[in-house]
Amino acid sequence: MMKNFSKKFLWAFVILMLLSAAYSLVAGQFQSKKEISLSELVKKVNTGEVSEITISNSTLEIKLKDGSEVTAQKEVEASLTQTLDNYGIDQGKLKDVNVHVKSNGTLAFLLGVVLPILMPVILIGFFIWFMARQVQRGSMQAFTFGQSRARLITPESQKDRVTFKDVAGVKEAKEELKEIVDFLKSPKKFLDIGAKIPKGVLLMGPPGSGKTLLAKAVAGEAGVPFFHMSASEFIEMFVGVGASRTRDLFRLAKKAAPSIIFIDELDAIGRIRGAGLGGGHDEREQTLNQILVEMDGMETDDRVIMIAATNRPDVLDPALLRPGRFDRRVMLDLPDKQDREAILKIHTKNKPLAEDVALKVIAERTPGFSGADLANLVNEGAILAARQNQKTVAQMDLISSIEKVMLGPERKSRLLTVAEKKISAYHEAGHALVAASLVHADPVHKISIVSRGRAAGYTLKLPIEDKHLYSRSYFLDELAVSLGGYVAEILVFNEITTGASDDLRKATDLAHNLVTRFGMSEKIGPMVLSEKEEMVFLGRELTTEKNFSEETARMIDHEVKSFLDSARVRAEEVLIRRRAKLEEIAAVLIEKETIEREEFDRLVKES
Ligand code: ADP
Ligand code: MG
Ligand code: ZN
Repeated sequence: MMKNFSKKFLWAFVILMLLSAAYSLVAGQFQSKKEISLSELVKKVNTGEVSEITISNSTLEIKLKDGSEVTAQKEVEASLTQTLDNYGIDQGKLKDVNVHVKSNGTLAFLLGVVLPILMPVILIGFFIWFMARQVQRGSMQAFTFGQSRARLITPESQKDRVTFKDVAGVKEAKEELKEIVDFLKSPKKFLDIGAKIPKGVLLMGPPGSGKTLLAKAVAGEAGVPFFHMSASEFIEMFVGVGASRTRDLFRLAKKAAPSIIFIDELDAIGRIRGAGLGGGHDEREQTLNQILVEMDGMETDDRVIMIAATNRPDVLDPALLRPGRFDRRVMLDLPDKQDREAILKIHTKNKPLAEDVALKVIAERTPGFSGADLANLVNEGAILAARQNQKTVAQMDLISSIEKVMLGPERKSRLLTVAEKKISAYHEAGHALVAASLVHADPVHKISIVSRGRAAGYTLKLPIEDKHLYSRSYFLDELAVSLGGYVAEILVFNEITTGASDDLRKATDLAHNLVTRFGMSEKIGPMVLSEKEEMVFLGRELTTEKNFSEETARMIDHEVKSFLDSARVRAEEVLIRRRAKLEEIAAVLIEKETIEREEFDRLVKES
């Protein structure tokens, strides 16, 4: 808008400059000749210097016998002869002079006489018009304020077109959505048989699992217009805008039917109404109400399907999930090993890969990665290859990128002092050795004391396969592993550093979950003790609501502590028993800074 304005202004300026240039050119024409007074003219006539006089209005253009030209002015009303007479002209000499009268109303007259008068009027008029236009635009903007800001992807725009082929994995979700595609492609088949097609499909899944991508793919497959809007775009500073945008969006979509309306990040407006503290939610609630109203008003014949995406289905208003609204719910999970390989395949399609690339291995090493993480990984690999002036992306580039995506970039520049390096080495060796010594813990993939992101060093453990269920013994072992670094520091240096703080926080959180959410504490038993946390929309306040007594709270604290204490004892037991191994691993770490899985396995096995 601002850009537009300055562009318009520039144009106005240029036009003004051109006009005034033209004016001065025309005006200049008349001024370029020397002007003489009437008495001088009379003198010249009397001395016989003048050959020709042209009268044009009040201006006399005089040609002298020597070829030069001058001008003179007379009064408009009086006739020339009379005027000259008054100045005492010699009538005899005047007879020799050729006198013509140029008719008025010529262009020259117009430009010469009218323009100087009109010019300021034109300029002022132009400015008024220009300003008026701006003002009008402003008020137009006020009117278009309530219009939807949806981005429209038409079936013709091939560039943005995404189809199911571009989405790997998420089989069930695709299966569900194929039905929608079928309906949009040939609604008659469904309508004739009296089938009710869902109005709304809600895609749920963790961030980066491909919800937005999948919604676009539905549009691409069905070949219908796709109105894409993020929920936060409904909300503006002014109350009522969201509701009016909603109306507009549905109106547009119905006009373009069959079509899809996609509202991304629905939780931004779809949160439970009345959940916040105090006021200030009117706008959001009005928008939500309007969406509900519009959805209820939609008929199957409208052939408009709503798709929404959220990663917080738990906070959505139940009214949204009622039958007849978003009653089709599709869950997108994080990809498993096979799906990860397929996603990697899609994202490496346009990239030259080296012979040694085995996407299967990368997929094995990336449990817990989302589709977005994998896309990012491939991109990082390509960047790495390009920086090393390679023509192709090698397996090593991809493997290095796994850690980069997981833990942040390596910070080789952050050099540890010799003492810090030693502490770090024992700390990581502690984690790794405990992990290797306990049956249920995930195997160690890599240990490093090169800083990465916020961590001074890290021990990378990856599950052998994707896990969906976690057992109590797994958690107990993991707790001990978490404390392995802390325990090693105490054991070796008889001192604790801040390097263990992150481990302690994670261990405490995990222990807390074991007690309050997973029912894994014997004393508390199978009971969920929730401290309900309610984030207030647009606000930072946090209210907590306990569903248990102070006495239970004390018991929870006690149980958490006992989980942590026994984890510590287990870690100590391992590290004291295998102290020699600990020293050995730490020494290798200090020397090499990183130990890969194969070498680590060898180190731990030899005893
Ligand atoms: P969400 O909306 O669930 O947060 P997106 O759909 O925006 O995630 O996904 C982000 C990016 O991750 C996509 O643009 C795509 O490149 C990649 N991606 C995610 N899931 C998949 C998948 N199943 N197949 C292929 N690419 C995927
Ligand atoms: Mg998204
Ligand atoms: Zn640690």
